[in-house]
Amino acid sequence: MAKKQEVCSFCGRSEKEVGPLLNGVNGFICYSCSKRATEIFDMVRQNENNSKYKQPNQLEIKTPQEIKAYLDDYVIGQDAAKRVLSVAVYNHYKRLLYQSDKKRSANDVEIEKSNIIIVGETGTGKTLLARTIAKILNVPFCIVDATTLTEAGYVGEDVENILTRLLQEADYNVEAAERGIVFIDEIDKIARKSDNPSITRDVSGEGVQQAMLKLLEGAVVNVPPQGGRKHPEQKMIAVNTQNILFISGGAFDGIERHIAARLKAHVIGFKEATGRTNKKDDNLLKYVQPQDLKRFGLIPELVGRFPVLASLNPLDREALQRILSEPKNAITKQYKALFAMDGVELTYDKAALEMVVDKAIEFKLGARGLRSLMETVMTDIMFDLPSKKDTTKVRITAKMVEEKIDKNRDTLSMS
Ligand code: ADP
Repeated sequence: MAKKQEVCSFCGRSEKEVGPLLNGVNGFICYSCSKRATEIFDMVRQNENNSKYKQPNQLEIKTPQEIKAYLDDYVIGQDAAKRVLSVAVYNHYKRLLYQSDKKRSANDVEIEKSNIIIVGETGTGKTLLARTIAKILNVPFCIVDATTLTEAGYVGEDVENILTRLLQEADYNVEAAERGIVFIDEIDKIARKSDNPSITRDVSGEGVQQAMLKLLEGAVVNVPPQGGRKHPEQKMIAVNTQNILFISGGAFDGIERHIAARLKAHVIGFKEATGRTNKKDDNLLKYVQPQDLKRFGLIPELVGRFPVLASLNPLDREALQRILSEPKNAITKQYKALFAMDGVELTYDKAALEMVVDKAIEFKLGARGLRSLMETVMTDIMFDLPSKKDTTKVRITAKMVEEKIDKNRDTLSMS
């Protein structure tokens, strides 16, 4: 405490007038000034919270149909998955509201989280769906790659680092992070290698799955704010994962084998009733069940923590065509907007866009390749255009697409 003559550096009053003073490196503070300072800090923090992410009671609840309509604006096709996800998101909303309801008593029903697993080939929209959902919910969102994670004590990232990313996304606003969404990509890559529980240690597979359970269970987890390995001097931030929605995605290459085996057994059992034994031509992924994920090598406890299972269809030519021009932020619309800023009207011939899709299929680039193909077509034009003051219209033809892409064939087929 301060000596007699010293005064509060904020209000200038002495210890006699305001009681004991707390001394810092270069000054003093009295109780009432410190109280005022705390109030101001709380207010600032409150404003910051309000500005970026809404409080649960400010969330505007959307119905599953509204959520699906929103997803339709950005994601082409995948209707079945969108319906499942819309319901899961709607329930997540309600859960957040329920949790924040102060009148709730301890005896009320506990609504469990609806963590989601999306199974689908690479480039069919898993990340896009998760990202779009985060946008609807207006909560922090981060993507982590399951293959970078390892069991504590081994080379690689501790699972707690998943939450470091989320905290960083939320500008270290712990409360917002605690309502965020984490997308765990490539969850299939941490499957254990065989169906039998391992006898030897499996650093990158089962161990990581075990470590991940803690996050999914809704525990308070100590998170290193800067990520990296835990060390004793680092100050940890406690994050409660109870309301964090985890969405994971994976291609699960080869899972069709397990699905087919299960369906075959089932179909043989009920042969008379169904009359179908051959599902070879179908997209088997749509029949995926939790037990197939277990057979693939996810541990039962982990599968149990993801009660919602959705599958995506492979994208056909028509879907690729639509992806190019229909979503709200479709690539072709983006170029149109860029050109419009230079006062130029950009149009595409139908055949030109069909050519882009043909090339995406030819190079096996899928939806992800559409952007790089379009970039290849547009780069030279965008380079020259701003210097050509008299150009007001640009029309992209199939011939232009073919020429530009063929010129860059080597780099494209490598990407
Ligand atoms: P995944 O996570 O399944 O590997 P992504 O969601 O990252 O695939 O998709 C890759 C890119 O392809 C996205 O940026 C998106 O532009 C496009 N894309 C993929 N699927 C769709 C879809 N169904 N609708 C619209 N765009 C899609």
